[in-house]
Amino acid sequence: MPRDDCVTPPSLNAQEQVVGAGERVWRAQTRDGHVIELVDATRPPERALRRVFGLSVLVGCPVKCTMCDAGGGYLGKLEAGELFEQLDFLVETTGGRDVPELRVELTRMGEPAFNPEVLTFLRGLPGRYPWARVEALVSSVGPARCEAFFEELLEVKAAHFPSGGLTAQLSMHTTDEQVRRTVVPIKCWGFDAMAAWGERFARAGGPKVVLHFPVAQHLPIDASALAQRFSPEWFAVKLSPITPTEAASRAGLFTADALALDALAQALTERGFQVVRTETPAEQADACGRFFSAPPQLGTPRRTLRPHHERD
Ligand code: SF4
Repeated sequence: MPRDDCVTPPSLNAQEQVVGAGERVWRAQTRDGHVIELVDATRPPERALRRVFGLSVLVGCPVKCTMCDAGGGYLGKLEAGELFEQLDFLVETTGGRDVPELRVELTRMGEPAFNPEVLTFLRGLPGRYPWARVEALVSSVGPARCEAFFEELLEVKAAHFPSGGLTAQLSMHTTDEQVRRTVVPIKCWGFDAMAAWGERFARAGGPKVVLHFPVAQHLPIDASALAQRFSPEWFAVKLSPITPTEAASRAGLFTADALALDALAQALTERGFQVVRTETPAEQADACGRFFSAPPQLGTPRRTLRPHHERD
């Protein structure tokens, strides 16, 4: 199919903010004037082969994780068309038509499980850019009362990503459930519920579910406790230095030193986990929790604003 027929022209009102080597972040305005951010997080060595994009799924975020600059100021959900507008913009602006692989990470701003439009977006994703293999990652804190979303995500995976192109990532932060409640201050699934759902997701054709630990001092991570709840057969671990946000700094959450990270990676590997480490600024550019624009301000709520656990 001629590529010119595949993607609508970019219609997003976006302004680029160059953040650092390998990072390109755009501050964009939705048609009703709300501020979101989107990012090209492709690492320079892989630019010939693929693009890695991070999209926003909400305006603001009601979760208010302790380390997050985007938390608060929640004004509503983005619609599936607005997610595609972000993606089309990034594909067109960053040379995404010239690579055989596109990876879309729903990590930039907002908890995906609070937005059912994410499911509509994922259903339309595989056929949207027919010249490329398209992969997606849904990163969630695992909010309670979103069971319908997670059940439907299993269906979307089976129907639209049968070859394993859809990855689920659970933001863990710590293996201490009590401490986690202070970092992610909403009612979430307990670890047993996360393990049960994650195993179902991974069993349905892989890949493994990623347990993401943005590692910080004072947030305990016990490799042995993790292995007791989450089987390395179905779960991999991603370790990142905690994103150096303003909120993290205010909360006294600073990244653990490199030696501690090495020791943790070693302990997890010994328990059978596949461990992925992200360490460069570009690899953190798509991290949920970063927000380079001014903090979300009180503004006009979107018509998509609903209590987060209600379905549209
Ligand atoms: S880290 Fe993600 S889920 Fe938590 S408040 Fe920020 S945008 Fe929301």
